[in-house]
Amino acid sequence: MSGWFDLGDVAVVPIVETPRLLIDPVEFFPGYPLGPSGWTAEEPWYDPGRGRLVYTMQAFLVVTSHERILVDACVGDGKQRARPEFDRQDSGWWKRFAATGLAADEVSTVVLSHLHVDHVGWATRWSDGHWRPAFPKARHVLTAPEYDYWRSDAGAAAMTRTGDYLADSVEPVAEAGLLDLTPPDAELGPHVRLCPAPGHTPGNTAVLVTGSRARLLLTGDILHHPLQMMDPDTSTRYCVDPELSARTRRRTLEWLADTVTAMMPAHFAAPSAGRVGRLGSGFTFTPATDLHRPGRYVVAGGPGAVDDAPGAVTRKRREDNGCPGQAG
Ligand SMILES: [Zn+2]
Repeated sequence: MSGWFDLGDVAVVPIVETPRLLIDPVEFFPGYPLGPSGWTAEEPWYDPGRGRLVYTMQAFLVVTSHERILVDACVGDGKQRARPEFDRQDSGWWKRFAATGLAADEVSTVVLSHLHVDHVGWATRWSDGHWRPAFPKARHVLTAPEYDYWRSDAGAAAMTRTGDYLADSVEPVAEAGLLDLTPPDAELGPHVRLCPAPGHTPGNTAVLVTGSRARLLLTGDILHHPLQMMDPDTSTRYCVDPELSARTRRRTLEWLADTVTAMMPAHFAAPSAGRVGRLGSGFTFTPATDLHRPGRYVVAGGPGAVDDAPGAVTRKRREDNGCPGQAG
């Protein structure tokens, strides 16, 4: 699905790599053999005929009048990967990125929410016999705890299943001097900050985007599928610390239910963004149709420049852009 999200003076544009990746529920949620139930057992979240969860693989382009920030980098094309669906894939993502009108060297920042294989791939592209940074002028933001974990023995052990995808997707960025290791609550600019979200991985982060008319929390892999909104204690097989992951998930969903902030998880099916409400011990998800704009987004000087008056608006924004579970 095309379309983008209008936060006023900020646009958030999903750039989809794979719209419909079908996943066996038992693979991701081994303690959940019956799969999802209720509203999460229906399209677009679940394919009842095949008994498979529906995931979307996508990155998000955050466009302000001053910055072009890419949040996460999907799987990438042409890379040797252990998972058959990812191995040497030909998704056409790069053409969809280019269709925004943005050149690769105009991307100012790439945020890597965490270092799993489906979030780092487009950080590099094959060129002249090597994997080289795809966004050569961008600082690549990553939390220090995340980078340290994957360079530790525990991180190396975790990669025996997948192969060392960091060698072709992250190390070339580090060697080019483009890696910027930050604290997990770093402010990246007046509209964008990181929020700590440990558990899925040790240095996992969410990205809070604040526009003049709305806020959106890009929750990355705090949750993968809406079944985790009905049952927030359910972590995935791939969560490094499942209990901490569950605490982060519940804390984040509670915070979202108490605010007007919308959320957009990395793998929710299109249109992906919605607002969170409470239902019993779980949560509901209502698509943020008020923010969604159909059609292709083309970068042309940034969105809504008329709204983007510096000063009072920016100061207010800074005061109320605290993260889930933190003092504002
Ligand atoms: Zn993921």
